[in-house]
Amino acid sequence: MQQNAYRNLFNIAPALLCVAALDGTFLRVNPAFARFLGVPAEDLVGRPFADFIHPDDQPATDGAMQRLRQSEGITGFSNRYQGADGDYRWLRWHASSDGTHIHAAAQDITENTRKNEELDHLRTHDPLTGLVNRAGLEARLAAHLDTAADGQVGMALYLVDLRTFRDVNEAYGFAEGDRVLCTLAERLKHCAGEDALVARLSGDVFAVAAPDSPKRRTVQDCAAKLLRCVEEPLHTGAGDPVRLSARVGADWGVLPYRSADSLITNAQAALNRIKRDGEVIGTHQQQSNNTARGRSLMLAALYAATAEKEFQLAYQPQVQLSTGRMIGAEVLLRWQRDGTPVPPNAFIPLLEESGLMLPVGRWIIETVCQQWRAWNRAGHAPARLSVNLAPAQVRDPELINHLKQCLEDARMPASALQFEITENVFLSKIDQHLETMRQLRDLGAGLALDDFGTGYSSLSYLRHFPVDTIKIDQSFVQQVTSSPGEAAITRAIISMAEALELKVVAEGVETAAQIGFLRQHGCDIVQGYYFDRPLTAQELERKLINPQVRSSPDPEELGAQGTLLIVDDEEGVRNALRRLLRRDGYRLLLAANAEEAFELMALNQVDVVLSDQRMPGTSGTKLLSALRHMYPDTVRMVISGYTDVTSVTEAVNSGAIYKFISKPWDDEQLRGYIAEAFLMHRQN
Ligand code: C2E
Ligand code: CA
Repeated sequence: MQQNAYRNLFNIAPALLCVAALDGTFLRVNPAFARFLGVPAEDLVGRPFADFIHPDDQPATDGAMQRLRQSEGITGFSNRYQGADGDYRWLRWHASSDGTHIHAAAQDITENTRKNEELDHLRTHDPLTGLVNRAGLEARLAAHLDTAADGQVGMALYLVDLRTFRDVNEAYGFAEGDRVLCTLAERLKHCAGEDALVARLSGDVFAVAAPDSPKRRTVQDCAAKLLRCVEEPLHTGAGDPVRLSARVGADWGVLPYRSADSLITNAQAALNRIKRDGEVIGTHQQQSNNTARGRSLMLAALYAATAEKEFQLAYQPQVQLSTGRMIGAEVLLRWQRDGTPVPPNAFIPLLEESGLMLPVGRWIIETVCQQWRAWNRAGHAPARLSVNLAPAQVRDPELINHLKQCLEDARMPASALQFEITENVFLSKIDQHLETMRQLRDLGAGLALDDFGTGYSSLSYLRHFPVDTIKIDQSFVQQVTSSPGEAAITRAIISMAEALELKVVAEGVETAAQIGFLRQHGCDIVQGYYFDRPLTAQELERKLINPQVRSSPDPEELGAQGTLLIVDDEEGVRNALRRLLRRDGYRLLLAANAEEAFELMALNQVDVVLSDQRMPGTSGTKLLSALRHMYPDTVRMVISGYTDVTSVTEAVNSGAIYKFISKPWDDEQLRGYIAEAFLMHRQN
């Protein structure tokens, strides 16, 4: 009877199910799996899975099979199978073995993977010009280095900073400004030549990376050439040619002895200097001896501090929004040099470069375990302490033994610890690092991928990492309420984490608006100054003894139905609209400019937005295009007395706005349009 029931389940389940032999051949597959592969179930018996697996995924699959043969289960392993249509599709596996057979279930996660690829593109490209952005530039330079014959490349990096671009926007409007930037991007590519890479780093800063073994002279010539190329009049087709001017800051060096990041930073320093001095071309001056001497003095002080264990630890609470309770804390290293705190970003890189991170890292683990022990004895240990693990620590063959010893000494369960690792750990020796991570997981410790979104590794790798949590980097979090790009990335990270059954923590949360956005999009755990700065052990202990329930912005408000946001810079118009619409029973929010609108959108669940077209600093269609990306479910309308036909048509055609209403409006007609917009929102 029971066997019949299982057989029925096996036959009707939409999941892809199979029973396999330990040598990697199918013994039975369910109809869903046979359909997926496009081969009758009976013909699959005895066939190796290798016939269907993407050749690149074979080694990882062999590794998974090896673990199954040792009777370990696998959860969340992914590889590509060739489906009935001939295309490879990503499958995510859960499997176990009883020593003779493997029982496995898979789910098709291809769509999700495509989303990852789109997200990768979003993260590394400027949507306007299609050029790479800073992350894309750094990644390309790293890839370029990988293919260089002798593992090194001379590289000159130029930052082209437009001086008068704001005037172009003001004089000709944003649409023309966008066209100018696109034309300039093409021109810079042409001028820099085929071997060079052109990037757009921010609104009016482009970068050109040219592989070369340059000398100061050629760098200056090249900078002058770029400058001339910017200064040529630009014809975009509309009216008079636009004239731009720029400054160029440059630096050069040989990768990998210099990082892409340091070339950009130094070129920026050169730019800052020439801005101050009123010049237009500058190269980075070699760092003065002072700085080199400063570093070696700091290093000497760090050696002494390591020997004397003169570091401290700070603890920053992590708060669960749904309950308002602290669920753990991140441990952060602190160092005071002669009584003055030194920022971690100033001394931790030096610890890493010098190899001191290993002993300091051990001290951190010992101290955290002993601190937990003291709190536990006093009856109020935190549920989880999250410790940053530097790449050198992950590589340390003694890491696991040392950790076990510390846990034992403190009688601390490994589950009270989580380790935070950055993606950079996976740039090399992936297998060795994965093994260490598995061992940490086997012990029972949690694993989080830190600074998520800033690294270079492909997101599709995420499925291979045995992590249970991802931390969204603060650079995204801090812009979620003002930048559509950052908001889109953050939403995509949250939904991807959900699909992969990972927890997600947002770090660097500073404002109520950020909390509103994060909660609205399903991120429940946050860490940041909004709730707490990093605390001393004593300060954290006080919070453990007296747990508070933290209130975040009112959830009732965020979930209210029928909310209309009105954006208009004229107070008279805002008031007139408020009076007109008050009796229709909507909850009305009023914003005087785009910034206020972003803030209110983040804090509230807004259904319909009605925006004026002409406002200082931006246009209604621009604002609504941004909102369309950040809050696709809203219904958006423009109200204006002035019609710029091109931009309105573009906005309507691209789906950014649903309706255009002209000023002065007819009261009854406007109420009708708004009622219709709410209806439309409910039907969406
Ligand atoms: P991280 O791991 O991304 O740590 C979070 C950083 O953000 C901390 O900076 C924290 O103080 C800061 N932060 C937290 N909330 C906010 C906020 O609301 N706004 C802003 N602006 N910042 C916030 P901190 O302590 O300076 O540490 C900097 C970095 O140094 C860390 O970045 C981590 O990469 C490294 N680090 C710190 N402690 C350790 C450690 O014990 N071991 C290792 N390997 N690295 C550490
Ligand atoms: Ca961290």
